[in-house]
Amino acid sequence: MDRQKKFLLSERDIPRQWYNIQAHMPNAMHPPLHPGTLEPIGPADLAPLFPMELIKQEVSKEPWIDIPDEVRDAYKIWRPTPLYRAHAFEKLLDTPAHIYYKYEGNSPSGSHKPNTAIPQAYYNKQEGVKKISTETGAGQWGSALSFACQYFGLECEVFMVKISYNQKPYRKLLMNVWDATVHASPTDRTQAGRSILAQDPNSPGSLGIAISEAVEVAAMSQDTKYSLGSVLNHVLMHQSIIGLEAELQMEMAGEFPDVVIAPFGGGSNFAGIAFPFLRHKLNGSKNVRCLAIEPASCPKLTKGQFRYDFGDTVGMTPLIPMYTLGHNFLPAPIHAGGLRYHGAGAIVSQLLKDQLIEAVAVQQLECFKRGVEFAKAEGIVPAPEATHAIAGVVREALKAKEEGRQTTILFNLCGHGYFDMSAYQDYFAGKLVDHHFTDDELYANLKELNTPEIA
Ligand SMILES: *Cc1c(COP(=O)(O)O)cnc(C)c1O
Repeated sequence: MDRQKKFLLSERDIPRQWYNIQAHMPNAMHPPLHPGTLEPIGPADLAPLFPMELIKQEVSKEPWIDIPDEVRDAYKIWRPTPLYRAHAFEKLLDTPAHIYYKYEGNSPSGSHKPNTAIPQAYYNKQEGVKKISTETGAGQWGSALSFACQYFGLECEVFMVKISYNQKPYRKLLMNVWDATVHASPTDRTQAGRSILAQDPNSPGSLGIAISEAVEVAAMSQDTKYSLGSVLNHVLMHQSIIGLEAELQMEMAGEFPDVVIAPFGGGSNFAGIAFPFLRHKLNGSKNVRCLAIEPASCPKLTKGQFRYDFGDTVGMTPLIPMYTLGHNFLPAPIHAGGLRYHGAGAIVSQLLKDQLIEAVAVQQLECFKRGVEFAKAEGIVPAPEATHAIAGVVREALKAKEEGRQTTILFNLCGHGYFDMSAYQDYFAGKLVDHHFTDDELYANLKELNTPEIA
């Protein structure tokens, strides 16, 4: 039997525009608020942190935004990415489901993150910026931005969560290969870092703290801007390149997905693969379920509150309308570092509120079990984050089997796990544990919030 495994596009097929779902959302988002005045923020409030073109994209209601030629040229290093049919994994699961995956691990830093790092670095360069500051958890975003800055000739300063800096030296070295300066956060270089260290000199750091430090560096310097690897509207839009390509590839396969699945940290890879398909549901032409899979230890979508909250720990960013566990929330140290963020982006939050997307929380042991099964069947070792999507896929595929119905599943294999083998080492050694998030944990944290609720 000669079955098709890969659905490949050529460079000419790389999309020429990103898709902006803001144009088609039935309910507009609540506006982000200034943390001091609680008034809606305007472009001038964001100008110290971001180049004007990205600010325009952040609030744009245009459905299609042109991808600059220079960005498309950089994309050609690894795009278009392949779409695979998971024949062997289907067989292993003995399921009637058709399972497809879009593989984003072929990028220079090994995940979907360069899809937005490249345009962000490009627009900064265009507007005369010299340096970009950012934060990174386990190092996926820091390495993607380091690569993009190096590509366009910008300096890059990365605040890396201290516990990861110490535990994951290879990601830091990867950033050094691309000439970035990397600090273990909290540092004594910023007011934000010093205030955390004063409370706890041994602080292991968190993504929220590292964001505070990187934002402060950009706010204090004329020629430095800040960059975020998820959550924001323009980031989600850049990632739409994944789903737009996948749409062409699913056409080649002669199918349209019944369900699109992706792991969920701040929402960028989920939005990237799902929104181009969701647009057909929003215009009433097709039905599709979009399913976000989050870790049970950091369940903002399934257990969080929909309200205004800060993007960082110290409270320097605008207030964003989001599903959140509270900006002081310190998630358990699970191995999917990229999913340990307290909130969800505003667009995804509004769509969840409007029941246009779905979310499920899964434990890390189930994720690693499914990740290893997938690697045995399909060959690629998934990033710990991506194993969450695979756990979600297996649940859907087994349900289809039970109910004896065919279903077509598309998921985002958003990164490989070759820099994360220590996580697999801990899994094989039986050192990983599930984490049972309690309501007490949630309320302890949310009751400290004095950010505005959403009516
Ligand atoms: C950063 C990261 C995530 C989580 O971020 P999203 O914005 O939700 O995509 C998931 N998977 C990988 C491989 C990542 O690097």
